[in-house]
Amino acid sequence: MENAPLIDPFNRVVNYLRLSVTDRCDFRCTYCMSENMTFLPKRDLLTLEELDRLCTAFIGLGVKKLRITGGEPLVRKGIMTFFDAMSRHLDSGALNELTLTTNGSQLHRFAGDLVKAGVRRVNISLDTLDEDKFAKITRWGRLPQVLKGIDAAQDAGLRLKINAVALKNFNDSELFSLTEWCAARDIDLTWIEVMPMGDMGEENRLDQYWPLSDLRKMLATRYTLTDLPDSTGGPARYVRLEETGQRIGLITPLTHNFCESCNRVRLSCTGQFYTCLGHDGMSDLRGPLRASDDDAELVAAIRAGIGLKPKGHDFDYSRQDIQGQTQRHMNHTGG
Ligand code: SAM
Ligand code: SF4
Repeated sequence: MENAPLIDPFNRVVNYLRLSVTDRCDFRCTYCMSENMTFLPKRDLLTLEELDRLCTAFIGLGVKKLRITGGEPLVRKGIMTFFDAMSRHLDSGALNELTLTTNGSQLHRFAGDLVKAGVRRVNISLDTLDEDKFAKITRWGRLPQVLKGIDAAQDAGLRLKINAVALKNFNDSELFSLTEWCAARDIDLTWIEVMPMGDMGEENRLDQYWPLSDLRKMLATRYTLTDLPDSTGGPARYVRLEETGQRIGLITPLTHNFCESCNRVRLSCTGQFYTCLGHDGMSDLRGPLRASDDDAELVAAIRAGIGLKPKGHDFDYSRQDIQGQTQRHMNHTGG
């Protein structure tokens, strides 16, 4: 059936698409990119119209949640046109949620427009509340600009979640201050274990690795933790801090196997279709997209890609070298 939902070989329904709209970024976070990244030539990028057509095809195949990411999605020229266009799928009820992951640097400009396009929740990446440390970890980012974006987003009525990458000897000392800051502002907080993506050169990821099992133990020295049942189909597990009522997310791709409930796939800004974050295997959708104005070939290529979704990822730090490291950087597929 042409519009039958996307079901992979392991019987998982795929209804969540994460789309990277650019590989470019105005930051150079040390765990994500090298300082002198080479970006894709602009001509290789899918146009906003092509991204629209691709997303619309996925939505026609049962995708209910669309997350826009990057690189930094809000530095892509004209991106608001794309958000505006996607809002028609929210209006029709075909799409349940349109959202984005951003470093927050441009939110002061776009928060109001995002709300108008139907965005209700935004994930903002923020690893530290210390200005100097922020400049160090993002290399090019400035904390006050991001805080201004966070204010603008909250003023516009967006629900926010902070994603912080857990980094040993960096933000472990801020576990409680970040938790309290988020509680005071009614912002959700999720910690992400650092993942071996791309070749970072000077950065040794084993030095940075702060297992969330350790983070959790540290949290438990101050709060009573209650595990919450998982509902996202993703790698996040949630605990509630009984003293504050806060829900803290823990994304542990390396220490917890979440793959059996994986409902998501990723698309790069050039139309590369990745069905697993932990594998370099992908299929090309740009060719089928451009081959014809009719979507039949594209839909067939999407289904063929779903048919190749692997059972799970192979990341493993346990042998003190980095097994299962992927070649691509996080900004390519957006995390
Ligand atoms: N620029 C946007 C941002 O920073 O939110 C969106 C793209 S960014 C690649 C998406 C997420 O991936 C961010 O939360 C970032 O912290 C995370 N990330 C990047 N590199 C990572 C790595 N090596 N391990 C774990 N998370 C990583
Ligand atoms: Fe840019 Fe996000 Fe990567 Fe940082 S994590 S360099 S903000 S894409």
